[in-house]
Formats: sequence, structure tokens, C-alpha cells
Amino acid sequence: MRSPCAARGGRRRPVSAPCSHRFSCTRARHLAPSFSTRSMRETTMETHDVIVVGGGISGGLPAATYLQKAGLDVAIVEARPELGNFCPTHETWPETLDSPHASINFSGNSPAIEDLELESKYGYRIRTTPVLLGTTHRDGTNCLICYDPEQTGRSFGRHSEADGETIFEIQNRVLEKMVEMNELAFYSPHPDVGKFEEILKVCGYVFGRSIDEMSSMTAYELIELTFESDKARQTLICPVALHLQGAPLSRGQGAFAVALSLFYTTAMGIGGNEALVEAMTRCFLDHGGTIYTSCPVERVEVDDGKARAVILSEDAVYPGARIEARNAVISNVGARKTLELIGERTMDAVDSRLATKMKYWKMDERGSTVTSWLIDGEMPWGSAEFDPLVDKAHLMYRAYDSWQDAKDYVMAMINNDTWGAFGNMIEILDYAKCDPNAVSPEGYRVIRGEEAIPYPLRREGGPEAWDGPIRDEMLRRRNDVMDSIAPGFKERIIEAFQWTPIDIWRVNPAAVYGQVLGGDFSEDQWILDRMPYRMPIRRLYMSNSVWPLGLTWMAAGYNAAQVVAEDLGVRHQSWWTHRPVAWFLENIERLLEPLTIAAREPVGTGGDRP
Ligand SMILES: Cc1cc2nc3c(=O)[nH]c(=O)nc-3n(C[C@H](O)[C@H](O)[C@H](O)COP(=O)(O)OP(=O)(O)OC[C@H]3O[C@@H](n4cnc5c(N)ncnc54)[C@H](O)[C@@H]3O)c2cc1C
Repeated sequence: MRSPCAARGGRRRPVSAPCSHRFSCTRARHLAPSFSTRSMRETTMETHDVIVVGGGISGGLPAATYLQKAGLDVAIVEARPELGNFCPTHETWPETLDSPHASINFSGNSPAIEDLELESKYGYRIRTTPVLLGTTHRDGTNCLICYDPEQTGRSFGRHSEADGETIFEIQNRVLEKMVEMNELAFYSPHPDVGKFEEILKVCGYVFGRSIDEMSSMTAYELIELTFESDKARQTLICPVALHLQGAPLSRGQGAFAVALSLFYTTAMGIGGNEALVEAMTRCFLDHGGTIYTSCPVERVEVDDGKARAVILSEDAVYPGARIEARNAVISNVGARKTLELIGERTMDAVDSRLATKMKYWKMDERGSTVTSWLIDGEMPWGSAEFDPLVDKAHLMYRAYDSWQDAKDYVMAMINNDTWGAFGNMIEILDYAKCDPNAVSPEGYRVIRGEEAIPYPLRREGGPEAWDGPIRDEMLRRRNDVMDSIAPGFKERIIEAFQWTPIDIWRVNPAAVYGQVLGGDFSEDQWILDRMPYRMPIRRLYMSNSVWPLGLTWMAAGYNAAQVVAEDLGVRHQSWWTHRPVAWFLENIERLLEPLTIAAREPVGTGGDRP
């Protein structure tokens, strides 16, 4: 039976007019009432080679697209009306752009841009600025990591000559190993014990230390022994303190995480980061993939030790329907939610240790809170006189008032001390630095600030407090902090919108406790101890809560696709050969060129925005 409101691509469909998932969503919503009156409880509605549960940008969508392009018949079954739940772009305020969730675009690391022809065929564009990331401080200074190691050296050198030389050498070693490390650490399905040691070796090489030495250091010890100025230290700790590569206070893991976090690229999607979801979806549909939106999965059917099908919930547009998987089910909803879908008893019977781990998978240390500010004019960075390069940066951090504060911050996070942590470390994005479309004709733009924050709120009476006055209090305090690093910022604010971890969880059931990266990092949740891509239940795979974490670099989906493709004998494809980061490094000059937009026509005259 053909599914009437599933978006279905066709191999011969012209690329210029792809079947859009938005179209399918609109139809899905319209058709929903007629379906909701009769349950299709467990009638097999469709059969596909592979079913992907959850169409997220990091895991589900790229895994599905690779496998579809490799010749399999793949269906994405998504609970929400649209794919890429955490990678939307809003016009929250007219004629501005805001990608409040996935804001920093890491897709430049991914081989998918070339493998899936996202730029050359499906209209995807990114841009970056000379500053990869930087920190800006209340004392009017800044410290910038640039794509050009000499520029980075000069910036660090303003704080300490020795630190300038050290970072210059480190960054050159990073560039030398950039492709190799991305391949080993990120675009390989882990756990892979063989590759693990290679990763540690490269980390050691970057910092000029042995594996043994690194293995007993926290992030703080390594940074302290490598850099003498606090500003350099506060800059290097940012991505680690954000829990992007490991737990900063874990011995070994913390030190290796500092090295791993130097292997990123950062950029912005033109037209907002949702452009990545759109391009990937076009590619998926163009190769014949099927998308079921507004279809929450209630259960993954396991029979005779194999994942066989998914059963939709009663509030899906096909209430209770069964969609069968001939060969594989990929769960992109994370450890806890996957356990729910399989059933504790079923998982326990297969692997009780893993079942327990999934049940208690740690998710509550690192929730997200985001503010989108509509401001009038440019960011008034207080450190522009110190180094005007800050005015070109798309990604800056407010990163503590001292190195001691940076240490206290992590202790506060671990101790669930919300107010101890809050306001110390804010990730600040200025979309307009890469994308001129983000500025309205009046000169308004959106600035987005995110902070990691523990979820429990026990000192405030529990997580229900997220819906209370704390929301406004956080915004008030954050405005003050922003004003202290960008004097006059508060006067430029026209409006602001605040997201808390509970809001984030509400829009995505996989993001338990507002954890947006697949799970916290801790001693027992690092590279070798994340969820396996290949689960002990046959034909069941994971693409979330794995190593590495989520993000727009789409490594988890790439790896899940590799594993499934190997198992199904379709891995060897002439197009599936590109190496991570290679495209970005080859095109860096072009990606740094500022974009301009044609003069806008007054509203209503029919002029098209580019
Ligand atoms: C506030 C915030 C800030 C962020 N900042 C950045 C950033 O700057 N840069 C960056 O790269 N990333 C960022 N991220 C993280 C990034 O967005 C995520 O890591 C990424 O989108 C995760 O993709 P995923 O495929 O792993 O999982 P998800 O996007 O979580 O996908 C899971 C999908 O499964 C669906 N689902 C859940 N339950 C069911 C069910 N029962 N049946 C069917 N479907 C189901 C969900 O609706 C969802 O679409 C941020 C996220 C948030 C929320």
C-alpha cells in the first residue's frame, strides 16, 4: 500500500523541484484528522530496507541519506512535523534570521558536503570569518583563535609572548593532523580500541606530551602547564567546559578533550543553519527516500532477537500503524528513549549491563539555555580597541573573569549550583557576520547567547521552577553580563526571547533534561563507553548517545551509515570516498569571502531577496 502523506522522492525527480518535506508536513497535518478516527493498530502499512527513528540533523537524517544514496530503500519516521528538530532557522523577528539551536555550523568538518553533493547539487552554502572562536573580557581585552595560526599567535601574544609562540606551534600541529584526526576520532564508528590509542597519540603529539602524561591530567592541569596567561587559559577551556569533547575534571579525559576540541571548523549556513536540513532532505528525497512526519514511534518491535518493525503511537498521523524493516532499524532518539521503545525487559534479556546503562544514562549535567536578542545595530564589543578583529568574529565567548572563575564554574556545574555557574560562560553568535541576509532593512539583527546549565534546579525547588520567575531572572542577569563585555548592548535590545532546558526537552523527546548532545560526558560515558552503533539486538543500530556527540558535523549519522552499509554489503560506493575537513581546508579562502546581497526592493514591489 502506498502511504498517501509520506513525502516520497523519486530517482528521476528533477532536482530543481524536489518533493519537499515541508509540503509533506502540510499535507500530513491536513490528513491527520481523517486518520485519527480509525486506528491502524499493528497493520503493516509499508516495508522498507531500513527505518530510521528520528530525523535529527546529526544522526538520523545523514544516516538515512547516505544509505538511501547507497541504493537501499530507507524511511525516516519522525515524531515532529519537520525534520532537523534541533536545527531550525526562525524569522523570529521580520527579515532577520535566527538559528537558536544549532547555531554554530560545524558541517565544514563533514565529508557529507562532498559525498552527498550538498553544495554542488543541493544548494547548500556556508561562510565563516577569520576568527574560528574567541573570548572577550570585561577588562576590554580579547583572545582569538583564528584560522591563520600567525593571527592566533599574535592575539595570544598580546597576553604573553610565550603563549603566542606556544599556540602557534600547537595550531600548526593541529592543521598537520586535521584530516587524520577527524577520520580517526570523529568519522569512525566507535568503540574502536585500535583507533582509540591512535587518537590519544595524536592528542599527545599536539601538546608535546606522552600518552601516559596526558592520561593523568585534567583539562585544567594541561592548560595551566601549557599557557601562562589567564586569557589564553580561559579561551582554551571554553569548548571543554561546554562538555563538547569530554568531562573537564576527569583525569585523562579532560586533557585529551582539550586537544580534541582544537579539531573543529566553525561557520554559518547561508539563510540559516536549517539550510543544511533542507539540502540533506532534498538529497534524500531525490534518491528516492521516504519521510513520515508527525509519526511518533511508540515501540520498536523485536522478535526472535531481531529488530523487525516500528509501531507508531495512537497520535501519529497513521495511528498504531506498523512499518516493517527488512534489514535494519536505526534509533536516533538516544539511550534512554531507545530503551523505552525497545522495552526494558527485551533489552535486559539480551544484555542486562547495557540495559542498565541505558536506563541510567547521564543527561542532566548539561542542559541548555538560550537567549535570542533582537538588537539595533552592530555588537558594541568592549574589546574592539584592543583588537578590532573581534568586530569580524561570528563566534565569541564571554569566558569568566579569571582562571579561578573558570575552575569554579566547572565545580558549580558538577554540584548543580545553577547560580554559581550562570553568567560565567556564554557562547555568543552574530549571524550577520557571515550572512548579510540576517540584517533587516532597518539594521536590526539577532544575537544569540547560549549557556550550558545543570537541569535539576534542586536549590530552587526542582525542575518545575524552570517555568517560574527564573526565566526572567536569567534574562535580566544575562543582559547585565552582556552589557559588561559589550557596553551599550542593553540599550540596543529591542526584544528578547529566552529558552530553558525544559522548553528544549518539550520540543524534542530525545533531549531528556534539555541535554542536546546525546548525553553528558563522565568517567563512564566517554569514547569507549558511549552507546555502540551496532546494538546487541540484531538489526538494531544507534546514531545518538554514541561517540562523538551530536552537532551539525553529522559524524554520528555518518558512522551509523558506515556500520549499516558494511553489514548490508553496500559500503563500497565510488562517491563515498571523501575525507573529513578536506573540502573546508581546500575552500577556506572562498568561505572567508564576505557575501553581499543585492539592494532590497521595498516590501510589496515583488523584489526577491537573494
Ligand atoms: C539550544 C541548543 C543549542 C545547540 N547549539 C548547537 C550549535 O551551536 N552547533 C551545533 O552543531 N549543534 C548545536 N546543538 C546541538 C544539535 O542541534 C544537536 O546535537 C543535533 O541536532 C542532534 O541531532 P541528532 O540527530 O543527534 O538528534 P535529535 O535532533 O535529537 O533527533 C532526534 C529526533 O527524534 C525525534 N523523536 C524523538 N522521539 C521520537 C519518537 N518516539 N518517534 C519518532 N521520532 C522521535 C525528535 O523529534 C528528533 O527530531 C544545539 C542544540 C540545542 C537544542
